[in-house]
Amino acid sequence: MATVETRNIRKSFGSVQAVNGVDLSTKEGEFLVLLGSSGCGKTTLLRMIAGLEKPTSGEVLIAGEVVNEMPPRARKIAMVFQSYALYPHMTVFKNIAFPLKAQRMGTEAIRQKVEWAAGLFGIELLLHRKPRQLSGGERQRVALARAVVREPAVFLLDEPLSNLDAKLRASARDELQQFQRRIGTTTIYVTHDQVEAMGLGDRIAVMQHGKVRQIGTPMEVYDEPADTFVAAFLGSPPMNLMEGKDCLVGFRPEHFLPKEAFPMTGAAPVPFRVTRLEYLGADRLLYGVLERPFPEQKVIARLPSTVSIPIQPGERYEFVVQEKDLRFFDRDAGHRTEARPLVAQFA
Ligand code: ATP
Repeated sequence: MATVETRNIRKSFGSVQAVNGVDLSTKEGEFLVLLGSSGCGKTTLLRMIAGLEKPTSGEVLIAGEVVNEMPPRARKIAMVFQSYALYPHMTVFKNIAFPLKAQRMGTEAIRQKVEWAAGLFGIELLLHRKPRQLSGGERQRVALARAVVREPAVFLLDEPLSNLDAKLRASARDELQQFQRRIGTTTIYVTHDQVEAMGLGDRIAVMQHGKVRQIGTPMEVYDEPADTFVAAFLGSPPMNLMEGKDCLVGFRPEHFLPKEAFPMTGAAPVPFRVTRLEYLGADRLLYGVLERPFPEQKVIARLPSTVSIPIQPGERYEFVVQEKDLRFFDRDAGHRTEARPLVAQFA
């Protein structure tokens, strides 16, 4: 096991700043997720940690040692890509054995190692097949098995589940997490899927334009976003952001509920005119506008099915958000600011 650290790491491709000064530091055995939309620099960052890309500046440390000049092979990392990159002409056994053969391990030791890894992922019965005879999920397990046989100190995974269908993804997520807990290897996992990030990560680094905007536990980044980018990036639908007098006032759609759902609260109700309703089964999404205190500002509310109050588009309802669920942000820079009396924000 080992920790990974980057110090002010940068990478530019011509005029494109793919990674623009990232300081990251994993804990021992941690599952860290790099989350961000396409092109934000996640893969480039991972490839620099792996040694597949040379940083323009800055340092990569593995187990406390600067590894900038160390070739990928010497870094004791294993990387699994989206494409899995299995050798199509080799059986599953040979695919998994490949890195061990390259290390010149003996035949019997290789057999034991491959069987151990196949057992970890439940693919013992597939060892004689070729990759084209496997489902997407099985291929993914073979790629992971091939990565673990080398007993790496660090796992780097780049969207390894993105080729799977939704159902398989959920079970693969579960397997991956259990497996990571079991072997306890420090893992850095790249994804653009926030559900995957929230479900898998001990911590999430939210990235934008080559920078880390916030790093924290799923609860921290969701409940206490450091800025409006993180607030709007996480959550579907995202946080509602209202233009106050001297700041932005944010609240999550699930915290904006009909007055009747909060019999005990002292919060003042606000009139909410619903323009559209989406029934999603477990939830209803209500799109509409506020009449005050932020007139004509668009808001989305998310009602769980347990709140069964009838709602009709075109009607006006009294809604409530509790003071503790309000977040305040700087209007220009977008960073979080201290809580303020809401009343001062009304136009
Ligand atoms: P995705 O989720 O789409 O894979 P990403 O967040 O992993 O995106 P990167 O692949 O790291 O993003 O790319 C970051 C930026 O750097 C992009 O603008 C991309 O076009 C650019 N880039 C990446 N690799 C190269 C390269 N080899 N040459 C030139 N530009 C590159």
